[in-house]
Amino acid sequence: MSARVLVVDDIEANRKLLQAKLSNEYFHVITAVDGVDAIDKAVAEEPDVILMDVMMPRMDGVEACRQLKFDPRTEHIPIVLVTALNEREDRLRGLGAGADDFLTKPVNDLQLLSRVRALTKYKMVADELRKREAGGKRLGAIDVVVSGRAQEPARILVVDEHERQAKRICRYLEGLHRPMSLEEATQFGIATSMVDMLIVSLSNEKLDGLRLCAYLRSVESTRDLPILVVSEPDDEKKAVRALDLGASDVIFKPIDSEELNARVKTQVRKKRYLDALRSRLDQSMELAVTDQLTGLHNRRYMRAQLEQFVKRANMGGGPVSVLLADIDHFKKVNDVHGHHAGDDILREFGRRLRENIRPMDLACRYGGEEFVVIMPETSQATAQQAGERLRAIIDESSFSIGRGEQLQVTMSGGVATTFPPDDHMDDLLKRADEALYRAKSNGRNCIELEHAGVE
Ligand code: GH3
Ligand code: MG
Ligand code: MG
Repeated sequence: MSARVLVVDDIEANRKLLQAKLSNEYFHVITAVDGVDAIDKAVAEEPDVILMDVMMPRMDGVEACRQLKFDPRTEHIPIVLVTALNEREDRLRGLGAGADDFLTKPVNDLQLLSRVRALTKYKMVADELRKREAGGKRLGAIDVVVSGRAQEPARILVVDEHERQAKRICRYLEGLHRPMSLEEATQFGIATSMVDMLIVSLSNEKLDGLRLCAYLRSVESTRDLPILVVSEPDDEKKAVRALDLGASDVIFKPIDSEELNARVKTQVRKKRYLDALRSRLDQSMELAVTDQLTGLHNRRYMRAQLEQFVKRANMGGGPVSVLLADIDHFKKVNDVHGHHAGDDILREFGRRLRENIRPMDLACRYGGEEFVVIMPETSQATAQQAGERLRAIIDESSFSIGRGEQLQVTMSGGVATTFPPDDHMDDLLKRADEALYRAKSNGRNCIELEHAGVE
């Protein structure tokens, strides 16, 4: 789907002009006539990028930008402010309000398209992560994380062969951030994947800035690393090319210290926003497959994995065995020593399982005090031995339940193995459960195999 751009300008001719240029490049364009209208449309239409005029009646572009960046519903939408003049004051005010970029009127086609494309790319990554994240509340938590970390100094690597220029950039950023030259980074063994941002000169002779941008974008660990390129004022073509190759932003020489800091701040904030989204996503994925009490895989994950293993075994892969283990007389533990003691035992039971299986085996908490160990590529005889070994490990030393108290715990287990070519996960588990039932009736603290007769 093509990106949706909201064009905001009080003058109809300007709107029409931008609309024509963007539509030509297959962007979908929505328009608004002033700041208030822009906020309504941004909330209702959720555009991918906003191009906003600064001078407008009712509410100007800078104020609209500030409000959009303050609202959790719209703060992630990149905003490009369009200024009438190349006014330094306007730029700084806009960057202070959270604008992501600037264009100067009359708008240059090359710059317009490359900047909109660069911002769209960032938005797509953020959207993908946001989509996977469930619930608006969680995103609220991310805002807290990001604004909390926004003040922290960022590690910024300055890639500029001209020493004086590199030093000047570092000096501008010092105090707020931790800038370093390529030389220093090499000396301290700091890799590009360890920095928060790169500033790359396009005037390098040996280390070609364009090539570096392309390379960093092709490597997984630096794919989202912000790159601010430093361009000669008369080499706009190269700057545009850099943006097309994946640079995040451009600053033109002579470098203005405040503008540099404002652009760096925007990029660092974006990076931290993506990082926070990503780490929360990892956490929630982890939560979805893990049992909280024992840290073992949960029932849902176990079933999804086992289904695949059984399918593979049916198609001629090696046999898969399962051990269904159940703690003996566990109800009594709760009744006599309380729920906390019961939980301590479940945790320790889980730990002993996890630490005493092969790396390719999967230990899961199936529910309550029932556990499943999936053993891929394992015959019934081997699985029986493994079950027997685990039973002995539970039996041989007592479990502590706090306040120095120890408790003897035993388990019973049932083992079943796939029968290709048309075994089913639920049949397999049922056979293991029947074997477990026999282990219980045979006096507990033992392992039983499924009946051979089932074949
Ligand atoms: P058997 O030897 O026949 O397996 O007897 P049992 O008492 O172990 O089996 P039963 O199924 O009758 O009882 C299981 C008990 O496990 C009941 C339940 O209160 C307890 N239980 C289930 N989940 C948890 C948990 O997360 N924490 C604690 N503390 N207890 C749990
Ligand atoms: Mg039990
Ligand atoms: Mg039970």
